[in-house]
Parts: sequence; structure tokens; C-alpha cells
Amino acid sequence: MALAIYCEQCQCKQPHDWQAGDACISCGGVVRKEVRCTWCVQLTPHAKFCKHCGSEVHNDKFFGPARILKSLGVDQLELPAKLRALDEAKLNQYQQQYNQHYALIEKTVQELEHLEDLFLIKGRAKYSQVEEELLEKIPFSQSQIDKFHEYEGKFLDKSPDKLMMTADHPSRSGAELSLVADLRRMPPYGNYYSSQFFVGIIIEYSIWNKIMPSPRIRIGAVASKLFLP
Ligand SMILES: [Zn+2]
Ligand SMILES: [Zn+2]
Repeated sequence: MALAIYCEQCQCKQPHDWQAGDACISCGGVVRKEVRCTWCVQLTPHAKFCKHCGSEVHNDKFFGPARILKSLGVDQLELPAKLRALDEAKLNQYQQQYNQHYALIEKTVQELEHLEDLFLIKGRAKYSQVEEELLEKIPFSQSQIDKFHEYEGKFLDKSPDKLMMTADHPSRSGAELSLVADLRRMPPYGNYYSSQFFVGIIIEYSIWNKIMPSPRIRIGAVASKLFLP
């Protein structure tokens, strides 16, 4: 399984061999009622068709191979039949190809999570947004792979010179998050009333904007994350 799975109840990350139906390793609850659509990569209920794009919903084990088939030019209507026609060897080959690219996402998301104490809006949703933006781009081009490698280790120590290359993260939200971290990290900018502080809030809000579905929920959610303990 090369798709990070987080418990919908407690946000705990599940082991790599997690399978649909397994209980959460942390809270014992139902981990996930949704699957990722093989076509549009958004989360959708495990029904016959994706609620976002109308594609047929597949089991998680087809996600990787489906993304490789899509990159090879298979269109939305032919995808289900092409997936079913793959033999075990071909499925494995596509899965391994996908895994190599997915490992880059997993690493960069883990490293971004080291910046959590610098963000005002807490929680996993922003990292899932980064992951979703990147999943769509698998398989990555060589120049995208180079960007991942340039970023490697940059977030682990938060020294000023390490966080400077903020605009070049392979995902837009990743670039925005590292910019927020950069604005928050330097002592002169840590002042609550500084303009940098507010620029940081605006960027965090714009990331949140992409995650939350309706304006009313968005404003309520941001207000509660910012001002409540
Ligand atoms: Zn849980
Ligand atoms: Zn879809």
C-alpha cells in the first residue's frame, strides 16, 4: 500500500499494510469510510461512482496502477476496463513504478510536518492538501524529482538559510506552507503585530480555503482554530 491512510476519528497514521476494514491502531475506531478516486484523486465514499468526477470507484489496490495508466494516456471512460484487463505481473510493475514516485511525496510531507509548531491552523488537513496536489502529478518529470531532492532535509532544522528556497516546492501548498514557516521563524518577525505575521495568516487562510467546502464553514473553522485554545 503506497497511499498514506489517516484515521478519520483521531488522525493517527496507519501502518503500510493497513487494509480497508482494519480498525485504527490508535483509537480502534473506523479508520476511513472513503477511498481515493483513481481518476481525480479526491476522497469519495466507497460507492459505485466518484461524487466529484463520476468515474467508477475502485479498490485502493488499483490506485497506483490506475495513475500510471492515466499518465500513459488512458482516458476516463476506458480506465475501468483497462484496469480489469491487467494481469498480476503488469499490476505489480505499475504499482512499483507508482511506489517510487509516491515515496517522494511521503518524504516531503513528513518533513513539512516538522514545521507544525510554526503554523497557527493546526492539524493534518493542510498536509493532506499537499499530498493531494502531488498525487495528481505522479509520475513526476525529472525536473520535478530534482525539486523534491533540493527540498530534502530543508525543514528538519529550521535555521534561516535552510528555509529560504520557499517558492520552489513541487506543490503549491507546500511552497505556501514553507513560506509561512519562513515568515514566522525569524525572531524580528515573531512580533504579533508585524505585517509578516498577517501575511502569514492570509497565506494560511488561503490554504485552508482550498480545503474547506463552504465559506461559512471555512470562516467558522479558521476562527475556531485561531482564537480558541
Ligand atoms: Zn483512530
Ligand atoms: Zn473522481
